[in-house]
Amino acid sequence: MEVNEKLIQEVTAAVVAIMAIQNGSKTICPDIAAISAMSSSSGCSNSYGVFKDVDSAVEAANSAYHQLAMCSLERRGEMIEAIRNKFHANVSCLAKMELEETGFGRLEHKMKKFYVTLEKTPGIEDVMPQVFSGDQGLSIVEYRSFGIAACITPSTAPAATVAHNAICMIAAGNTAVISPHPGAKNTTIKAVQLVNEAICEIGGVPNIITVFEDTTIENAQRLMNHPKINMNVATGGPAVVKAALSCGKKAIGAGAGNPPCLVDETADIIKAAQDIINGNSNENGINCVGEKSVLAMESIADALIQEMCKKGAYLIKGSQIDDLVKVITLPNGKPNVKYVGKNANIILKAIGINVDDSYRSIIFEAPADHPVVMEEFLMPVLPIVRIKDFDSGANLAMKIEGGRRHTAVIHSKNIDHMTRYAKMLSTTILVKNGSSYNGAGIDGEGHTTMTIAGPTGDGLTTPRTFTRPMRCALIGNVGLRSAL
Ligand code: NAD
Repeated sequence: MEVNEKLIQEVTAAVVAIMAIQNGSKTICPDIAAISAMSSSSGCSNSYGVFKDVDSAVEAANSAYHQLAMCSLERRGEMIEAIRNKFHANVSCLAKMELEETGFGRLEHKMKKFYVTLEKTPGIEDVMPQVFSGDQGLSIVEYRSFGIAACITPSTAPAATVAHNAICMIAAGNTAVISPHPGAKNTTIKAVQLVNEAICEIGGVPNIITVFEDTTIENAQRLMNHPKINMNVATGGPAVVKAALSCGKKAIGAGAGNPPCLVDETADIIKAAQDIINGNSNENGINCVGEKSVLAMESIADALIQEMCKKGAYLIKGSQIDDLVKVITLPNGKPNVKYVGKNANIILKAIGINVDDSYRSIIFEAPADHPVVMEEFLMPVLPIVRIKDFDSGANLAMKIEGGRRHTAVIHSKNIDHMTRYAKMLSTTILVKNGSSYNGAGIDGEGHTTMTIAGPTGDGLTTPRTFTRPMRCALIGNVGLRSAL
């Protein structure tokens, strides 16, 4: 890894933020606190994108849409650059605020997620036109704005989703109204304020991204059904994706995952163990892409478990497994939110096991139909199922993924296994010999996204996802390659 000034700044910010958390100091993002003190002479509205109710947030985004339509592409690019810079300066503060408000995840992982979002969410270069030129003329496909989007954001990555959605929408020429998760309301609103502050500071269009304070599920539905909203973008669990798809307008649904990870007899077991623990324990299991179960071939299962223990896994057995399942599961079989995104040692403490925070994931052997295998548990808890051969393992992986079309992982050196697994699972993200998050562009190739639209087939969203492709054809001998 190259050590440069940016890396040093990022590491310093992480250390300062972790020390602040350890000292128990309350988070006040300096730039955000300064917002209220700024005078209206800045030329921006005083609200910085924040409105009391759905209607006023939509009206402001509607008026911004007409102003944005008058801006050049270059100006859109400048506003995006300002947002990237503003968030970059506030990463540690936002990450700390998000952790305090939601109680989910880990500070250092949140910070990394922010940096990657800011650096690897594409901008206006993603909406460059496509050209066809030949004997019959010239056709151009241009990616035009879709209108005003309703963006329903999750509690598991509230601020990074605002940053990602805002960059994409502005590059696409859209405006958007954000609907926060009630459990992440303050962080989401602060993120929207930061977007507006950044745009304001360069004299850009106010209220391109707005948010409303009256945060309820009913208001999220009201927003999506609002007649002035042209497109719904839902990032969350199955209920919100269903609600977005039921509104009779364009919908992009980024739903839940339950990624299985198959390890066959040819895999590099030491690397697989490390990658799996890194992926499962990232953000304490709240990432939708994170490994949620391991399917290990009988011949390597013992070695894999042993290696995982060396890499930070805590193995529980017998009655400890029953105790854990009782604690992390509600009577209706759903995950107990009290343990969502908590450190492994906090969950272990609840079943009477006192260990330090060096343990990153709790692992245990489970039968194929175990509820923690089949349900999405957003925790650093990882059931391991023994499989007798590749075919039965791949079939089980399909059942566990459950047609969510989200993410799956395989560790193997057998090309045939890897290809068949990819074809059978048919997930939006398929990671071979790496950690799940590598497939989302985090320490992996390709752009990143906070909105992985499996159910609606839009994939890892970019600005182009939120546009209308329009073709303009000029007929005749206008191509330079045609005969004179
Ligand atoms: P959630 O579904 O509880 O909430 C997500 C958002 O939807 C919130 O703003 C919430 O207020 C709203 N909402 C929930 N039910 C609704 C309904 N019936 N009508 C209208 N709005 C509704 O999810 P969460 O707990 O915040 O986030 C975790 C879930 O999101 C997990 O299932 C995770 O896999 C998924 N997720 C997916 C992606 C992705 O890119 N595919 C990204 C992040 C999270």
